[in-house]
Amino acid sequence: MAANVHSALEQLKMNGVRMTPQRHAILGYLMDTKSHPTADEIYKALSPTYPSMSVATIYNNLRLFVEAGLVRELTYGDDSSRFDADLSDHYHAICKNCGQIVDFGYPPLLEVEKVASKETGFVVHGHRMEIYGLCTTCNT
Ligand code: ZN
Ligand code: MN
Repeated sequence: MAANVHSALEQLKMNGVRMTPQRHAILGYLMDTKSHPTADEIYKALSPTYPSMSVATIYNNLRLFVEAGLVRELTYGDDSSRFDADLSDHYHAICKNCGQIVDFGYPPLLEVEKVASKETGFVVHGHRMEIYGLCTTCNT
């Protein structure tokens, strides 16, 4: 589950990562949004308040958050990664028209990991699944 910004930043500090206002802003933005933004979208949202922040800064900080386990990177085969600070077990429904990503949960699917492990002998680390379709805005 997603911790709050302060405890997340505490965790970074313990890893020797210096806390900066920009870092705080990026992490806070990610924890407040459900939109699964790209680095570019975060840039557009934060640049009015932080004019000196570049897309590269945002991208580097996102890398840092992902490595620290605070943020999940989502790759769907297109060129830009999306970022999710909600670390709970959940899946994504992706609109093929507008690109909107909506969270949903389906705990019974964890069973598939047990089945896979049993049938293959693998030590299973996880699985991914996406649902594709049209969102409620685009299907009307
Ligand atoms: Zn849509
Ligand atoms: Mn999500």
